[in-house]
Amino acid sequence: MHATATPTHCPYCALQCGMNLAPAPGGGVDVVERADFPVNRGALCGKGRTAPALLSPSVRLTSPLVRSAAGELVPASWDEALDRIAGALSAARAEHGPDACGVFGGGGLTNEKAYALGKFARIVLGTSQIDYNGRFCMSSAAAGGMKAFGLDRGLPFPLEDIPKTGCVILVGSNLAETMPPALRYFTELRENGGRLIVVDPRRTRTAEQADLHLAPRPGTDLALALGLLHLVVAEGRTDEAYIEERTEGWAEARAAAMAHWPEYVERITGVSVPQLREAVRMFCEPEHAMVLTARGPEQQAKGTDTVSAWINLCLATGRPGRPLSGYGCLTGQGNGQGGREHGQKADQLPGYRKLTDPEARRHVAEVWGVDPDSLPGPGRSAYELLDALGRDVRTLLLMGSNPVVSAPRAAHVEERLRSLDFLAVCDVVLSETAALADVVLPVTQWAEETGTTTNLEGRVLLRRQAITPPEGVRSDLHVMHELADRLGVEKGFPTDPEEVFEELRRASAGGPADYSGITYRRLAEENGVFWPCPGDPVPLPLVAASPDPKGPDAAEATDAPEAMDAPEAMGDSKALDEPEARVPHASQTPQGVHPGSPRLFLDRFATDDGRARFVAVSYRDADEEPDAEYPVLLTTGRVVAQYQSGAQTRRVDELNAAAPGPFVEMHPRLAERLGAADGDAVAVVSRRGRAVAPARISTGIRPDTVFMPFHWPGEGRANTLTNPALDPTSRMPEFKVCAVRLETVSQP
Ligand code: SF4
Repeated sequence: MHATATPTHCPYCALQCGMNLAPAPGGGVDVVERADFPVNRGALCGKGRTAPALLSPSVRLTSPLVRSAAGELVPASWDEALDRIAGALSAARAEHGPDACGVFGGGGLTNEKAYALGKFARIVLGTSQIDYNGRFCMSSAAAGGMKAFGLDRGLPFPLEDIPKTGCVILVGSNLAETMPPALRYFTELRENGGRLIVVDPRRTRTAEQADLHLAPRPGTDLALALGLLHLVVAEGRTDEAYIEERTEGWAEARAAAMAHWPEYVERITGVSVPQLREAVRMFCEPEHAMVLTARGPEQQAKGTDTVSAWINLCLATGRPGRPLSGYGCLTGQGNGQGGREHGQKADQLPGYRKLTDPEARRHVAEVWGVDPDSLPGPGRSAYELLDALGRDVRTLLLMGSNPVVSAPRAAHVEERLRSLDFLAVCDVVLSETAALADVVLPVTQWAEETGTTTNLEGRVLLRRQAITPPEGVRSDLHVMHELADRLGVEKGFPTDPEEVFEELRRASAGGPADYSGITYRRLAEENGVFWPCPGDPVPLPLVAASPDPKGPDAAEATDAPEAMDAPEAMGDSKALDEPEARVPHASQTPQGVHPGSPRLFLDRFATDDGRARFVAVSYRDADEEPDAEYPVLLTTGRVVAQYQSGAQTRRVDELNAAAPGPFVEMHPRLAERLGAADGDAVAVVSRRGRAVAPARISTGIRPDTVFMPFHWPGEGRANTLTNPALDPTSRMPEFKVCAVRLETVSQP
């Protein structure tokens, strides 16, 4: 390692690969291998390797921008920009009430920023109208996990368990492209004699690694899971002792599954009965097995039920809460996990507490120094919030998100953003959404700041600052501090991330996602700590001054940590085959310090009675099925060289060279019917709009389906087409399936 290298983590996906940043000879920083971080052991994908390009002033914003009288975004001072935002928020609140102020966060924000943003919305603005783009990413898995296990942590076990299990069913994840360093866990699984089953409508790079590839029609994963469970029962492969000892609700779930005969499931999904039987055999024969889901089954209007069906399969075969086994979700965004735990979701308070729970409100209000009754209730989910812009919600403060590209029915969302009285965006670059704003604030990113993230394993990590940000750039925490001050809340929004984290520890204490035993020092010394990690946070003087006159005198309030209950009990309490892995760096932790919880549910689930819940679910069609007018299915996803809305990666030359633009992947038979050759421009038309991109012809996709990556704006914007139909529980939009028709486009 370079003598002055700073160990930190990648700015992009939920794997949060470790990397070192060393001073580059010509200025800036170079990425240097960091082999000591166990998740990626030094490996990085092209996005991580090229991330220093984002630090260049030629790429990033370095001055606040305000919209001039002529309608142009022009440079301005920080004071002018902040004054304008505070004035607009204040005016909207005075004229229309607190809920006229909307707040939209992002799954890339650090835990500290996500926490501060939720607090800012609720005690400075007093608004219920806050949600974030993580709602688009994993909320169905979160809802399914909560229903079954009483807790949502993406993976309830570390990635290192994957190579030691016997079989993994990977549902709707193309991790060979979305998080390439994670592929080695599955390669090692197969080298160890384990089997990999991949469920995906496309023969992706990940599916090519599989022992068995099941390619269901988009939107039918629910039927597939039910058909597999039917066969598990029919073939006598259930674990009756486990079901009896550790679960509730089997009779109803069993009855629902038995209505899904294999032949019926074959008709719905296109997966043959012999393939279904082979999958059941591969999954049930080993002692240990896992199901891992990702966006494929989750981004559907029945995503929660689909996740429940896969969890039911795991429960019926006795997998969850046993070593090297269980169900997990592969979270996507960099801090998608932590971002959903600390209060930027419409229905949550820090520590994964519920906003509707009186005890949760009391605890958090006490930490914040406000009256619990002054906290607003749950607000709208992400798409519903975007849909309400310019109507009930008149102003929007948006941090680290680019919904003009990433939201479903994006042209409509863009129109709603344009209809706002006022839009303020905090971002690193001038994204397509920032370009619509009245004020844009250039904020620090990744290597320019310190903060924590929580990766897809529930491992809390410390990202360290490696370089000084450019002059003119300030942190999101600074923005909230200054806006709070201008809106009459002078204290409670520190700009030091460690100070924010200390408060977050106290706010999360006793909650499901308990971080109270985690400190920056521990994170630095232990290479991350898995939550729940109860501890004894040092009481801080309470500093928030509520704008609500009923709020208590902050300076006089005191706080005591909550009792630690369920999270500790459900944590890692049994030795596995590698005990040193279950207590990370235990020798470094002082006696009495909680070691963190790499593996959950080994003794009990996080439900009131400690038992997991089956949820009885049945198949239903997608919100839009093909018809005469729209006869083809569209599914969307990512490519290896771009990330999410592309706001960052589309500014990196090497990544653009590898993935320069959108395309429409289609089967040769479909292309022939359309009369399109490879590279021809084709139009994809849905009920919401039209997108045009070159055809990419591949035998790796079903003939009834086309695929488009969603990283680009403009005429090739895939999300112009996608359907905002929402899952009734998670409020997740149906990104993964909608009905379209194809048209040839005459080219000049
Ligand atoms: Fe690792 Fe994801 Fe970053 Fe690639 S984008 S280096 S997989 S964290």
